[in-house]
Amino acid sequence: MGSVEGKIALVTGAARGIGRAIAEELATEGADLILCDVKAEWLAETAAAVQAKGRKVVCLSADVSQSASVNAAVTEAVEKCGRIDILVNNAGITKDGFMARMTEEDWDAVITVNLKGTFLFTKAVGKIMMKQRGGVMVNIASIIGLIGNAGQCNYAASKAGVIALTKSVAKELASRNVRANAVAPGFIETKMTEVLPEDIKKQMLAHIPLNRFGLPRDVARVVLFLASDDSAYMTGQVLTVSGGMGM
Ligand code: NAP
Repeated sequence: MGSVEGKIALVTGAARGIGRAIAEELATEGADLILCDVKAEWLAETAAAVQAKGRKVVCLSADVSQSASVNAAVTEAVEKCGRIDILVNNAGITKDGFMARMTEEDWDAVITVNLKGTFLFTKAVGKIMMKQRGGVMVNIASIIGLIGNAGQCNYAASKAGVIALTKSVAKELASRNVRANAVAPGFIETKMTEVLPEDIKKQMLAHIPLNRFGLPRDVARVVLFLASDDSAYMTGQVLTVSGGMGM
């Protein structure tokens, strides 16, 4: 696996789940980490895991849906670390419900965190990477953004938007040596999915050829690939990590 040794990586939503696994995987392969979540104190466990691997860590409060909060975090990150080589837009939420009963608030909340949040961090860090004449962005989308899902029209639209944003940014920034790719996970065992009823989980498993749910590390290894020079000739692509679901 190509190295991220000595690189500085910023991961949003890094307090738990997939974001935490990504931070740990990047640290294992030699990157220093800037961890962001709504409240910096929630990052203590992830930060301890990164430090245990001998890497440096900075923890920042950043609500991805608020431009002032995002801009302040990116400014502080650059003051403390000097540069940002890797950006992983991971923070995301669900507020599921069938379209006919979905409230405007639930639509707005999911679009705002998942799609606008990715835009705000991409814009703020994109400026830094353009000045550096180099950088890598990895956006966490979802298989649902590719195939849709009953009960998740807000989430599906937000993740399809993340994919379209990724491709547009890849085209805009390629000449500055900045790459942008997306990962589309299937069903991954985290707090986001543990709330689903058992019968729904059973139905989903029936659609997964590899016959198991994914682990956060399954996604993190692919993020590592896209963040490293092993994927140096890839930009604007979407890699699905779903055990074969949706193929
Ligand atoms: P998770 O366990 O709920 O973790 C998400 C993290 O993001 C939490 O620490 C959460 O903090 C943080 N976050 C939420 N809103 C935020 C905001 N406004 N600003 C900053 N941080 C915020 O979810 P996960 O399963 O690891 O999901 C990570 C990403 O993978 C998401 O983008 C999700 O859509 C995507 N994904 C997940 C799956 C899956 O099956 N799990 C599948 C496909 C894609 P709080 O404590 O505030 O919630």
